[in-house]
Amino acid sequence: MKFKDSVVEERFQYLHPLLQTILKQMDDFAKAKYGIELTLTATCSTSDEDRALGRKSDTHRTRRASDVRTRDLPESLIAELCAVFRKKYGNLGAKLNNQAQLIVYRPHGTGPHLHIQLNRKYAQPEMKYVTT
Ligand SMILES: [Zn+2]
Repeated sequence: MKFKDSVVEERFQYLHPLLQTILKQMDDFAKAKYGIELTLTATCSTSDEDRALGRKSDTHRTRRASDVRTRDLPESLIAELCAVFRKKYGNLGAKLNNQAQLIVYRPHGTGPHLHIQLNRKYAQPEMKYVTT
């Protein structure tokens, strides 16, 4: 697994363990089937960072969401990741329009990515991160 930068990498450890497991399995899947290592572009955030980004959802600051870069992935891999992991863990996903949605693939502002999100019941308290 690769990380966009050292902040994203350092904060991976604070994600909910279930999400860490799902992300590692997605990375293993991409490596085994395509020889591709996935890149995480976002893990945990703070309220201040979410405000600056104009983020409405609290999933990143409650440590239950992560973003996977898709611009360097074949469409077939993106489709397989969505199909396989929605089937395996879809019931753990956050509710969107009253339906559990583990993976949201919606190209927008910060570039195309897969937003992987756990249900609100897995929300963790926001952290005060020390940046080194
Ligand atoms: Zn996201």
